[in-house]
Amino acid sequence: MGQIAQTRGDASNGAGAKAVRSWAPATGELLGEVPVASREEVARTVERARRAQAAWSVLSVEERARRVLRLRDAVLDHAEEIADVVSRECGKPKVEALLHDVAVFLGTATHACKAAPSALASRDVTTSMQPHRRAELHYVPRGVVGIISPWNFPFSIPMGDVVAALVTGSAVVVKPSDVAPLTMEKAKQVFDGCGLPEDLFQLVHGGAEVGQALIESGIQKLVFTGGVSSGRKVAAACGAALVPCVMELGGKAPLVACADCDLERTARAIAWGGFVNSGQACVAVERVYAHAAIHDALLAKVVDLVTELRQGDPARPDTDVGALTYPRQVDIAEAHIADATAKGATIACGGKRGAGPGQFFEPTVLAGCTHDMTVMTDEIFGPIVPFMKVASDDEAIALANDSPLGLNAYVFTRDRDKGARLARRVAAGSVVVNDVMSNYAAAELPFGGIGQSGFGRVHGDDALRDMAQLRVVTVDRVSPPKRDPYWYPYSATTYKWMLRGLRAVYTPGGVLKRLGALF
Ligand code: NAD
Repeated sequence: MGQIAQTRGDASNGAGAKAVRSWAPATGELLGEVPVASREEVARTVERARRAQAAWSVLSVEERARRVLRLRDAVLDHAEEIADVVSRECGKPKVEALLHDVAVFLGTATHACKAAPSALASRDVTTSMQPHRRAELHYVPRGVVGIISPWNFPFSIPMGDVVAALVTGSAVVVKPSDVAPLTMEKAKQVFDGCGLPEDLFQLVHGGAEVGQALIESGIQKLVFTGGVSSGRKVAAACGAALVPCVMELGGKAPLVACADCDLERTARAIAWGGFVNSGQACVAVERVYAHAAIHDALLAKVVDLVTELRQGDPARPDTDVGALTYPRQVDIAEAHIADATAKGATIACGGKRGAGPGQFFEPTVLAGCTHDMTVMTDEIFGPIVPFMKVASDDEAIALANDSPLGLNAYVFTRDRDKGARLARRVAAGSVVVNDVMSNYAAAELPFGGIGQSGFGRVHGDDALRDMAQLRVVTVDRVSPPKRDPYWYPYSATTYKWMLRGLRAVYTPGGVLKRLGALF
């Protein structure tokens, strides 16, 4: 490709490339290209963002929220154009682009703007040891926030973080995935048309090197969403630069189907949660543990539903399953199936890559899977749902927890109390009973993982507060003495009185106990 980076099939994006090209996964058509930012351009972009942020940060939270709502409204006005770019660039059905990219963003933006004034309001704190001082907590803007994002939801993931950063008073520089760069070009166009200062939100395109340059450019925070192996390198770079970071990494969501689950709903949830976005979702159903009492019936229903899915042109309104966005995912799907079948799994439906120019892989259900198969232990990120039969709920929970990843998990049972009890035993950032994937769209709910799925959260009030910087201010309530008793000069008397004071305060029945501050 000479000096042009071939994004399809080239994960490294070719160091030194001058441009990133975007192809339609469903057709192989070249959709466009964007220039790769040099290290100097990244630094200049961050500097421009910093200057814009200086004026933005002095606005009140209410005023910032009011202005950011213009962006939400502009996205609604341009919803169809955005869904069209996402659909063509990712190969996903337009209804999914509208649901997962546009609608999820509208919800996140609305929540961020509505919640920010109260979430970021200063708070008074009473301290038991210094009641003579008034303490205030302030949530202040960080500066410039960097965002490095993946290709699977190329609009809603970075744009949700963009609005959170903007309402909290920061400017943002986004490095979109080099696999789907045109979506964020569209987002930038919409942003520039909605009357906000253009330099508040900017893009730098390219691969890993550009991401690294962004981390080293003097940003005050990074939100990274991507795979575990890239996440390790990104976290190391953030550590070296002492940039605080949120890590939203891979998932391996288990679905526990109890003996008393509603078979119809559970089967439909597996079919949708496993194959929506061609399975390329960090919260997709990646493994099913079905109780022996319903395993065969559930598997048969899922296979019936999956066999009926219509795969093909994402622009057609009746297409259920589109293409795989990233060509590497086709090879990964094939490797999982080869490994599983070699170890005894059977293909209940699907199992092959599609013919023709597009990157398609048949929606596949595997039966008879075990934890010595990669399909049950490693992230698939493709249209494959493996089934495993279990003898009890306890076995299902133990297997669900047998993973270094812990992002989302699902439990299906007609007994809601039991569902909630089982959910509390699952090691994951979010556990959903009798539904799939819906928690990500609920913007009030913090979202993120544990273990190798990452750390930090997006969405919800806590994530907004974390997007800001915490500052503590304490002020004397009454005129202070000229010298506090433990200041210089020290003497034997200082020591003696300090010891007496400590005993008076902390001895059971002492001052703190009387003030109700000692347990
Ligand atoms: P990826 O890790 O390959 O790339 C993600 C982004 O990081 C891209 O913009 C890429 O250019 C950049 N990048 C890669 N290596 C880098 C490095 N060393 N330094 C700086 N930047 C670097 O991931 P992907 O293939 O784009 O996305 C799929 C992965 O993302 C899956 O593992 C999926 O589970 C995960 N994901 C997680 C969430 C979540 O919220 N937890 C959401 C969506 C996707």
